[in-house]
Amino acid sequence: MAKHQFQTEVNQLLQLMIHSLYSNKEIFLRELVSNASDAMDKLNMLVLTDEAYSSIEFNPRIDIKIDKEAKTLTISDNGIGMNEGDLVDHLGTIAKSGTKAFLENLSGDTKKDSQLIGQFGVGFYSAFMVADSIEVISRKAGEDEAYIWSSTGNGEFEIEKAKRDSQGTQITLHIKDEDSEFLETHRIESIIKKYSNHIPFAIFMDKEQYTPAKKDDDGNEIEAEKTEIINEQINRASALWTLAKSKIKDDEYKDFYSSIAHDSSEPLAWMHHKAEGAIEYTTLFYIPSKAPMDLFRVDYQPGIKLYINRVFITDDEKELMPTYLRFLRGVIDSADLPLNVSREILQSNPVMSKIRNSSVKKVLSELAKLKKNDSAKYETFYKEFGNVIKEGLYNDFANREKILELLQFNTLLSSDVTDLESFVKNVDDEKKEIYYLTGKMSLSMLKNSPQLEQFKAKNIDVLLLNEEVDSVVFPMVNEYKEYKFINATDAKLEDSEQSQKEDEELAKEFEPLTKELKSVLGDKIKSVEVTTELTDSPVRIKIDKEDPSYMMAQMMAQMGQASEVPPIVPILQINPRHEILSKLKDSADQNLINDAAFVLLDQAKLAEGMELDDTPEFIQKLNRVVAASLRA
Ligand code: ADP
Repeated sequence: MAKHQFQTEVNQLLQLMIHSLYSNKEIFLRELVSNASDAMDKLNMLVLTDEAYSSIEFNPRIDIKIDKEAKTLTISDNGIGMNEGDLVDHLGTIAKSGTKAFLENLSGDTKKDSQLIGQFGVGFYSAFMVADSIEVISRKAGEDEAYIWSSTGNGEFEIEKAKRDSQGTQITLHIKDEDSEFLETHRIESIIKKYSNHIPFAIFMDKEQYTPAKKDDDGNEIEAEKTEIINEQINRASALWTLAKSKIKDDEYKDFYSSIAHDSSEPLAWMHHKAEGAIEYTTLFYIPSKAPMDLFRVDYQPGIKLYINRVFITDDEKELMPTYLRFLRGVIDSADLPLNVSREILQSNPVMSKIRNSSVKKVLSELAKLKKNDSAKYETFYKEFGNVIKEGLYNDFANREKILELLQFNTLLSSDVTDLESFVKNVDDEKKEIYYLTGKMSLSMLKNSPQLEQFKAKNIDVLLLNEEVDSVVFPMVNEYKEYKFINATDAKLEDSEQSQKEDEELAKEFEPLTKELKSVLGDKIKSVEVTTELTDSPVRIKIDKEDPSYMMAQMMAQMGQASEVPPIVPILQINPRHEILSKLKDSADQNLINDAAFVLLDQAKLAEGMELDDTPEFIQKLNRVVAASLRA
């Protein structure tokens, strides 16, 4: 007998399961059945594609047995099975990044955490919610030895040799006294119907069937009453996506979602599509109502299962759908792919890429419909996944316009969100320019940015983009239909000869001050410029986009290395019509000019949401300036 320790994360998870997560215990059965179903999927593929397995007779089935006296619930399958090494690896560690993410994201709030557990499909270990101890007897297909794994969930498990006649796995749960409901046939049957009705394999269970006594017309008993044990199939076992849409009830769609997405909350929407023609395939996609926890991890778990003619191929292929649709859960099934596809073939297969392209189009158009017809649902969708679909703006050029149309924007002149289709209705007909401003700051700060004063003054609307992803993707979006996207900081709103002349005169008048400010601020700034685009603020920061350090920074940000970018030296723009500047121009107090120069630069940085180099010094200088003004 060999004793093994559980990996630390497993212990952590088990403690959670046993002591705090109990509000939705029944999902353990969904998890065990789903594992059994996966195991048969895997064997099915090997039998069909690998010579070494061709002699195995593949009669997939799951059997559930209840023994009320022994207080055990047993779930068996004849799938791929596990050998000794598999048992140690699979039932002693946590391999999935999603599950690790789950553990990192626990809130401490039992109720919320237990809902998350469903979302993560923490699988096998959830059985310890209802069992004091568990035994797993398994034999791997193509191997002779069987092994028994057993544990009470207390830090360690044991593995010994065992007997089993054929390949597959049998899991016996010793049900806790307080969970005896899981020893009732009707309870088990209803859980199976709820979560596992449409897994592609049949589930059988022994049920007691009572037949009352039969009597003839005179009331004489001809057959005594009896209670028989019958072995009955308790799920439909029809791959749901293969049925006609009209034959599927909403509840069935929802239940199927729960079984494939391991999510106990209802999906937000689903799209079921059968394509007929040159390439035949079926897709059933779901949008979850909450973002999975690993959504923003590089090692996220993809949510689409690929089937070839109902034979499961993979659920671990990120290329099936583009990454910006990685929140989708569901199934792609096609008869037009070769069964023994390898990952490489799959990625370069023209049939697969056609299925992928049309599926993406389909999903985008369904989202557009949802946006139009159900704004409340769309709002939920957008809150959870809006930032993810924006990623498509830079990695799915072909669908850029469609993706843009799905986006919702805050704007300078309105307090409601809008979309591009409505926004362009108010865009200047001749210029056809869509102005936008990005910034990692609150919406109200962005709205009050000095960069937007000239727009406010002229009543021109601007898209306000304050999400992190916005600053990366929008600089790469150049147009929407016949409209050009222009960063508000680059916009030239006024060009008339008269205003140019005025600007030149002001620049001349303020030349001594600009020189003075530059000499005080030194290499903290690139230069000082006079601007007439400001109405309220005394100063603002401008970035010279031709500057090589700026271009370098953009490139690094796009490669996801924003944190390593060296700081860009900005231009300080001053507003000649502002009282501070017009008075500063005539001031002879050198100390005051020195302090004011720094205070002006730092406030311009603050307005951009930038961090100050030296906040205590800013405060000191600000205080000296205030004191000086009080003395005056
Ligand atoms: P998940 O199913 O999400 O991978 P689990 O903790 O439920 O996580 O299971 C861990 C692993 O144990 C599975 O990935 C699978 O390799 C193996 N396993 C679990 N149950 C079975 C089974 N009935 N037959 C074969 N392998 C199984």
